[in-house]
Amino acid sequence: MSSSFNAPGSQVLHDLKAVVGDEGWKPAADGARYFEDPRGRFKGRASLIVLPDSTEQVAQVVRICNDAKVGIVPFSGGTGVVAGQMSVDSDAAIVLSLERMNKVREVLIDDGAIVVEAGCILENIHHSASAHDLMFPLSMASKGSCCIGGNLATNAGGIQVVRHGNARDLCLGIEAVLPDGSIYSALSPLRKDNTGYDLRHLLIGSEGTLGIITAATLVLKPVDPETVTVLCAIASPGAGLELYKHIRKQLGESISALELMSDFGLRLVTTHFPALSIPFTEDHDWYLLLEASGPTGIRDRLEEVLEACLEGELLFDAVVAQSQTQQKSLWDLRENTPEANRAGGAFCNSDTSVPISKVGAFIAQTTRMIHDIHPGLRMNTYGHIGDGNIHHNVLPPEGISKSEFVATHPEIVKAVRMAINEATRMFDGSISAEHGIGRLKTEDLELYASPEKQALLRRIKSALDPNNIMNPGAMMTDGPAH
Ligand SMILES: Cc1cc2nc3c(=O)[nH]c(=O)nc-3n(C[C@H](O)[C@H](O)[C@H](O)COP(=O)(O)OP(=O)(O)OC[C@H]3O[C@@H](n4cnc5c(N)ncnc54)[C@H](O)[C@@H]3O)c2cc1C
Repeated sequence: MSSSFNAPGSQVLHDLKAVVGDEGWKPAADGARYFEDPRGRFKGRASLIVLPDSTEQVAQVVRICNDAKVGIVPFSGGTGVVAGQMSVDSDAAIVLSLERMNKVREVLIDDGAIVVEAGCILENIHHSASAHDLMFPLSMASKGSCCIGGNLATNAGGIQVVRHGNARDLCLGIEAVLPDGSIYSALSPLRKDNTGYDLRHLLIGSEGTLGIITAATLVLKPVDPETVTVLCAIASPGAGLELYKHIRKQLGESISALELMSDFGLRLVTTHFPALSIPFTEDHDWYLLLEASGPTGIRDRLEEVLEACLEGELLFDAVVAQSQTQQKSLWDLRENTPEANRAGGAFCNSDTSVPISKVGAFIAQTTRMIHDIHPGLRMNTYGHIGDGNIHHNVLPPEGISKSEFVATHPEIVKAVRMAINEATRMFDGSISAEHGIGRLKTEDLELYASPEKQALLRRIKSALDPNNIMNPGAMMTDGPAH
């Protein structure tokens, strides 16, 4: 196994700078923004930052690096939370940022598609789609900073997967520079294409280890005439899923978002964002943020269904947003949760998925296991419950800071992480539902992926990137099989 790659010598640095021109590179000393981890756990390093402005420039940079065996770390918005976009142990690799490749190349109205460059910020794609009365359904709290190249490289999920699928399900075509510097271009908005292996899906979710995505053709969907956002007070995560099942029976596939939040989580958010408040007079243990959209009348129909549920055990109370401002306030409670976790000192942020039928039992099991480790630990359990995707954020006991706790109880920090992983295995789940492996979870992948899967991952890496120049150290610590 080989994980060694070279630092670029002065000739290689000269050649790289010549390809991208004066505007297209920065010395590592000016690269602080490329080295920041959104959760503050890692610091990136590099020998040079290159910012190509065309696919051809990306290809030339990759060819130079492949010839010289110099590692490349692809970088889009830098919002990845598993340190995939930063080299942490070595400054030999270069960072290749797609930020200057941020054009919408084409809106294909009749094909219901849009062709965008990899550095397009997700929210800007939303704006481009809505200018044509269409929508691009991929969305998440980081939408103002993350870019479509990173979204595809991580097969991002987010808040509308329950109805519209992951990034993978919204991508029709892809253009990428492969590790040998060749350009793979398949941007046609075809809905059906069974001509051999689907290389688009191989590149999606590959976290920059198989090539650099430079552009993509994405699905656009019609905007639903009516959208309604509701915060529901519920007894338990299981009751939330029963409520979801019940609404689906009545209203079909109109629910476009289904987010679980807890009383502890909402209090954490309102403590750190005092302009926000919990819109109920009584206290409840669990909440479900639910959004439905569809033809005119969906609001009335949903309100009728919820009204009927208030008489049973499924729903204790509900607040239906009456204006865009109220809708935003409800979403702010959810979207500020990652920042509130960080501000509150969360030392563990899990990203697990289990089969939907097992979510209730999984949450009960992990909660038991974590409190057995230390009864004072506080848990913010929330997430995309409609996809079985639960984020457990674990905070130190009240009054103890994260740094103090991590320094004095490293064994507890490790035990909590392992307990969540073990519970995930018990419930046939995945230790990374939507964030990927990056550099944070390489050991977990080795522990939890089957030997057959690991061998295949290495053989694919080896076939496409024999010199291990693409994001070395991400996903597999030891690089390709030889
Ligand atoms: C507040 C917050 C909320 C979030 N919510 C969600 C959520 O709900 N769902 C979710 O899935 N994620 C979420 N994330 C994580 C993150 O936003 C996603 O993983 C996102 O897809 C990363 O995109 P990016 O452009 O920032 O990529 P980066 O962070 O720049 O890179 C991520 C990975 O992709 C690789 N990469 C980047 N660009 C390319 C490219 N062009 N070609 C090949 N490889 C590339 C990088 O090397 C790295 O491995 C959240 C993050 C934050 C900070």
